[in-house]
Amino acid sequence: MTELTRLSLAAARDGLNAKKFTATELTRAHVDAVEKARALNAYLKETPEKALAAAAESDARLAKGEARPLEGLPLGIKDLYCTNGVETTAASRILEGFKPHYESTVTSQLWRDGAVMLGKLNLDEFAMGSSNETSAYGPVVSPWRRKGSDAKIVPGGSSGGSAAAVAAHLCLAATATDTGGSIRQPAAFTGTVGIKPTYGRCSRWGIVAFASSLDQAGAFGVKVRDCAILLSSICGLDPKDSTSVDLAVPDFEAALKDGVRGLKIGVPKEYRVDGMPEEIEALWQQGIDWLRAAGAEVAEVSLPHTHYALPAYYIVAPAEASSNLARYDGVRYGLRVDGKSIIEMYENTRGAGFGAEVRRRILIGTYVLSAGYYDAYYRKAQQVRSLIRRDFDQVFETFDAVLTPTAPSGAFGLDNVPDDPVTMYLNDIFTVTANMAGLPGISVPAGLDHQGLPLGLQVLGRPFDEGTLLRVAQAIEDAAQFKLAPPFNMRR
Ligand code: GLN
Repeated sequence: MTELTRLSLAAARDGLNAKKFTATELTRAHVDAVEKARALNAYLKETPEKALAAAAESDARLAKGEARPLEGLPLGIKDLYCTNGVETTAASRILEGFKPHYESTVTSQLWRDGAVMLGKLNLDEFAMGSSNETSAYGPVVSPWRRKGSDAKIVPGGSSGGSAAAVAAHLCLAATATDTGGSIRQPAAFTGTVGIKPTYGRCSRWGIVAFASSLDQAGAFGVKVRDCAILLSSICGLDPKDSTSVDLAVPDFEAALKDGVRGLKIGVPKEYRVDGMPEEIEALWQQGIDWLRAAGAEVAEVSLPHTHYALPAYYIVAPAEASSNLARYDGVRYGLRVDGKSIIEMYENTRGAGFGAEVRRRILIGTYVLSAGYYDAYYRKAQQVRSLIRRDFDQVFETFDAVLTPTAPSGAFGLDNVPDDPVTMYLNDIFTVTANMAGLPGISVPAGLDHQGLPLGLQVLGRPFDEGTLLRVAQAIEDAAQFKLAPPFNMRR
């Protein structure tokens, strides 16, 4: 029954409602696919019994004509979301064995709407990384391969498990989080669609915190429509998160039919960075042509402070991380490595529990927040942040959205991952601006690179205008006719 796993979320929903198959059949097909694809290491924890029990309940509701919006649809959940009674590790040793007694608001909204959980998805440790290699439980392997090569490819990060699972059809769609590009960059690397809504659109409650002023929940799907459907479920005010916003949640799926005729799309000249491969430039131009052909007006715009976004992000994000991660002390959660004194116990636990990238971020963060350096680094970075937001505000006075490449290259091989952290951080050059400014962003697959690996285009929009973002993404999807056919599946 593998063909059931090839459906988009929207097609699966419509098929269930038309009684073409049952939720149990759909879930069983995914459970089997997950088992067969363990070599990708996309799931950290599989929850098949839970999934089949939920599917049975969905079948009962479908039979009674009482289907909820996501009734019986099997999803994967990034292991940064706390799930009641199901181990939640953030892909870190320090949280090994941690079973929350509560459910994150976003996932509880998915279950409220009838979705089925297949399991918890791998990620970079505490969502810090761009290749999914910092996971304490081993890297995720993308289902994609270069033409004529069997070398393993990274799915991007930090939501590598979510991206690989959707690309390999190991769930219909997945949740993820984006602090500096962790939804959009892996979406681009795996030929999937990934949306990061506006900061405040979704509750952060029950999501393991990385950098609280940047973290945002979001979704991966095979199609733009799938992301629109999930978004309507996960957004909304939550009294448990004071930064979540009290705004009506639109029917994002309904917005898709509006098209892009008459929309004004800006192309920021500062995103034409030195050394950008020609094929990325060409793809960007292709995107511009597609949007023009669909009736949008496209013109160059300037976002003059773009250049400072990446360095400022790598001050703000580690600063907040160093503070958020202070809670992992061997007392309250997961791992404890004893010592002769309480201080030694803290040191032993944190030394053994955190991986190298997380330790690096804590060190940088502690440094930039220290008394002598706070003004020079942290305060400056916050000022830069205001300037980045102002650049966008000015552009959005006349433009409805901005079009850029998602990442400066296609996916790299697991065997040639950049070994210095700064080169790795450059992956985030086009994505961090949206987090710094709190704006919504989406990555949509638009073509293949010279090696046959997917490339994505990014659309950024006005705060709380995800509807327009989705319309632009839909126009790109319609024009690109991208085929999600990673070689890993063909060999099965
Ligand atoms: N790659 C970025 C980082 O390592 C983004 C991570 C994220 O969005 N969670 O910080």
